[in-house]
Amino acid sequence: MPTALTDRILAAVDEERVVALEQAMVRIPSFTLEENRLALYLAKYMEAAGLEVELQAVPVSDELVGVQPVGRLRGAGGGPSLLLSGHMDYIGLEDPERWRHPPFAAALEGGFIYGRGTKDEKGGICAAVAAAEALARSGIRLKGDLIVAPVMGHKTRSVGGGIGARHLMRSGVKADAAIVTENSGLGIATTCVGRVTARLHMQGAAGSFDVRGTDLYGRLARLIGRLGPHFGTVPRGTWLTFEPHASYAGFPMLVYGAVAIAERRCALTLNVRIVPGQTAASVQADLERVLEEVRGGDPHYRSQAEVLHPVRYPHTISTDDALVQALAAAHGQVRGEPPETGLAPRRGAVADSWFFIESGISRTVVYGPGTLGPDLPDAPDERIAVKDLVDCARIYALTAATLCGTV
Ligand SMILES: [Zn+2]
Repeated sequence: MPTALTDRILAAVDEERVVALEQAMVRIPSFTLEENRLALYLAKYMEAAGLEVELQAVPVSDELVGVQPVGRLRGAGGGPSLLLSGHMDYIGLEDPERWRHPPFAAALEGGFIYGRGTKDEKGGICAAVAAAEALARSGIRLKGDLIVAPVMGHKTRSVGGGIGARHLMRSGVKADAAIVTENSGLGIATTCVGRVTARLHMQGAAGSFDVRGTDLYGRLARLIGRLGPHFGTVPRGTWLTFEPHASYAGFPMLVYGAVAIAERRCALTLNVRIVPGQTAASVQADLERVLEEVRGGDPHYRSQAEVLHPVRYPHTISTDDALVQALAAAHGQVRGEPPETGLAPRRGAVADSWFFIESGISRTVVYGPGTLGPDLPDAPDERIAVKDLVDCARIYALTAATLCGTV
């Protein structure tokens, strides 16, 4: 890209406006399925910035319809389109009394903005909107469309998650490439692990609880001891069948979910983060084998591994891909060093990427501002560095100009 064009794009991202937008977003609480106020705010903001905005109604249940805006900086045609999408919602507020900064005040202190959702992931949405606004204000005309889609209902695990992202795809919004703006510490997450969720059922025979060797608590402890720790890498040669994969270091991994225990019955939900080569059937067979070991031939005790849907398979996008290249070059220009790329920036988790990949946008990565883990050792405050926010807006704008092309 010519230096003059790069300079124009970088100069068009205004730090004060970026900070004001992030603060305004943080001051509008947006718990899951309560995102409408934020959605309307963003719709208005994007419209004023010069984007075409569609406000989508997202059916959630018989009683509830959510809304989400889709902003489009329409290109002149003849270039690929790019989708920037992040989730507007978050679940609850951890330890509210321990926050040092009020969670919805968006306090600016020492180069950081503090508040619930600052990085997960209003930061990413803010950077995406600011990037589109900068391109619109600078008068630079893209060839392909730049689409900015803040989505609702991401944290809706009980109904498969990503209600908004799925609706976005079903509504017919198409793009040649997508960046999910989740907090990845400004690293490019090109590799995502797969996921098999399973429920392990254990049942003692009627009347035999604790008496004839069917102690469910003891068996549950043995089962967990055999499977390994929460968020632990499953070592090769223990209970899971797989071939280690160079791009998936630290995986497969085990993550426990809920345990439900009633008299004589126990159900343990877990998910296995899988590597290429593993399947739902192979994981189920591995789990059945462990259950059988724990059963130890006891005729008064039954067990079963049930795979829950949907199953996700691992996905990776080559570092030679045009999107990764454009993003890495833009990152290098703005930050002065190459970005971390691969599985590490999101520890293999890909958030809404699945829904875009499944809908045919195989060129999808996660890249956004804000660290992945907690920021403060002694307080639950969420925060984002202003520099990361502004840099990210510039990086998104440069990436769009490179990928979509300019007239
Ligand atoms: Zn998130």
